[in-house]
Amino acid sequence: MDTVVRFAPSPTGQVHIGNIRTAIFNWLFARHCGGSFLLRIEDTDLERSTRQAIDTLLECMEWLGLNFDGEIMYQTSQREAHIKAVEQMTAKGLAYAAPAPEGGRSPIFFRVPWDRPDFTAIRETGPAELELHPETPVKIDFTGVSFSTVSKKGAPMPAAACLAGFRQMKLYDGAGNVLFELEKNIDGIIHDKQSFSLGNCVKMTFLRREIFYKDIIKGELSKPLDGIKDLIMVRGDGSPVFHLANVVDDITQKVTHIIRGDDHVENTYRHIMLFYALGSKAPEYAHLPMIVNSSGKPYSKRDGDAFVGDFREKGFLAEALFNYLALLGWSPGDDREKMAKQEMIDAFTLERVKSAPAQLDSNKLLNMNGAYIAEMPFEKFVAYAGKYAGDFVNDKVRFEQVARLMQSRVKQFGQVASWQYFFSDDFPVDEKVFKKQLASAEVRAALNFLAGELNSHSELTKEWLHIIISKTEESFGIMHGKLFQPLRLTVSGVAGGAELDETIMLIGGSRSAMRISRSLEVYQKEMSHGE
Ligand code: GLU
Repeated sequence: MDTVVRFAPSPTGQVHIGNIRTAIFNWLFARHCGGSFLLRIEDTDLERSTRQAIDTLLECMEWLGLNFDGEIMYQTSQREAHIKAVEQMTAKGLAYAAPAPEGGRSPIFFRVPWDRPDFTAIRETGPAELELHPETPVKIDFTGVSFSTVSKKGAPMPAAACLAGFRQMKLYDGAGNVLFELEKNIDGIIHDKQSFSLGNCVKMTFLRREIFYKDIIKGELSKPLDGIKDLIMVRGDGSPVFHLANVVDDITQKVTHIIRGDDHVENTYRHIMLFYALGSKAPEYAHLPMIVNSSGKPYSKRDGDAFVGDFREKGFLAEALFNYLALLGWSPGDDREKMAKQEMIDAFTLERVKSAPAQLDSNKLLNMNGAYIAEMPFEKFVAYAGKYAGDFVNDKVRFEQVARLMQSRVKQFGQVASWQYFFSDDFPVDEKVFKKQLASAEVRAALNFLAGELNSHSELTKEWLHIIISKTEESFGIMHGKLFQPLRLTVSGVAGGAELDETIMLIGGSRSAMRISRSLEVYQKEMSHGE
């Protein structure tokens, strides 16, 4: 059977990186296996799904090179199939109309199968016993069982679940008499809609059963049926719910592997039942670990950029973001990090996806982006950088000189805006750092001296600059290397950048001298104001 995966986003806004990572893993898996990567837009939430969100999603996918196979399936176009599926389940006795609310129409529920030996995803786990609160009657009808257990402090704790959760159920009074046996009444309950309300029950015994599946990433997962309720499939207004639409579409699209976020683990128990009820084999499941922040909480907008569009705007390269997100929860099994797409495709297996949450490290992402930028062909780098530059991009010759000097240092193209100091004397200065760097009188005197030297020396060379800076440090009693930062700050306004000698040479001697003198004046003025 050919491998078929799908990316099934709900287009309700911006595209979160967690969501696009799901697309990336599906894409890598499909391309690795030579299978199909389908796109299904789950647009059934009509209030929240917008055309704009769909367009944003498609743009993000195209930008990242996530090409999909075949046509897009829009979930809203599948409504007939969804309703047909419900009819099919009703005919098999696996769905029922629940009592209608006043003035409304009946919602339709899926019945967790009570007795289906061929449904092998359900297994017995052994006898169970619950202490019940005698003041809450145990209610049993064709929609399920409700009761209260007893909290540590003796208070009632309400609970409700499907009938199938309570095989061989017996209810007891305080004297140990059996008040009710579910098995003896089940036919009347399911077929004739009999209902019971039993007071004074202090204990319930039953045979616990659970639904289980083997997740490729998380291993075996299971959930007791006495913790699951029958599932609403069609609302009173006739609209199918997410679970039904999702499963029916996966059947229609012949999906073989469902790779999605682990926020869907709980849904999957129900989905497996729906696959069974619709006569289909459930696909393989692989639930991806959550992306978390540095304190282990789900990564959100509050932690920094969280949408693909944000990264794109700030000047991250699609290849770098793709590469970084692919490694968020997956590793090729060796220490490779920067990988070409084909390398990732070749190495990708779901077995190598980690089950532990994946922490987003924005520095690592920046460094990855920097590595991709550093190896861009120079012409391409200049063109790309130009889009992020101010008006100074028009100074073409100089822009290329600066670009050559800075390419290996740019980590995101947004940083290009800070190249302004190469082109204009009007650039921002960090006040706090400025005051700190100029606090020493020796440093100020040394800078003043240097300004004079720079002004009177017409042909700057690296050698001359090194010698003059060293000599100045020496004659003003400044430790070797300690003049660099104050000098850099007065000349450029920033604390980092390219090598200082090359920076000064590009800016020019007299211009650098002027900036130093200007800084010293500003500093003096501010200090005298402060006094
Ligand atoms: N629309 C669902 C979501 O975005 C899809 C879940 C799935 O992949 O099955 O969470």
